[in-house]
Amino acid sequence: MDGFVMSTDVFHHMIRYCMSQRPIEACGFISGKNQIARRYWPIRNEDQSPVSFTMNPIELDEAFTYIEAFGEECYAMFHSHPTGLPYPSPFDVEHTVYPISSIIVSLRGNRPRIRSYRITEGTVYPERIILIPT
Ligand SMILES: [Zn+2]
Repeated sequence: MDGFVMSTDVFHHMIRYCMSQRPIEACGFISGKNQIARRYWPIRNEDQSPVSFTMNPIELDEAFTYIEAFGEECYAMFHSHPTGLPYPSPFDVEHTVYPISSIIVSLRGNRPRIRSYRITEGTVYPERIILIPT
């Protein structure tokens, strides 16, 4: 399938988590197996800021230990834009270091908007999110 494939359940949990962290930006990872994302890992935003995030390094390490223990791979990083649009900011583009999908949950407006991107060497490639039943 062409796009980022994730379980509907994880998709909704991720959005709910992002909403629960407002007005602070939420962040974390999404892992899975066989190219299907099935688990999300919220990570504390050390910045506690509505416009930026820095992942807590201890929680980040823990998440990767568990992802490995579950025999899964990390497929995406996610973060929210509590009042911003669902597009990567110049800062996001510059600081994307992982060769995985970058999901942005925009909470601006009446309903959340979620977009996925591949960001490679400063270039942003949008990708489709394909939801599958859990
Ligand atoms: Zn951002």
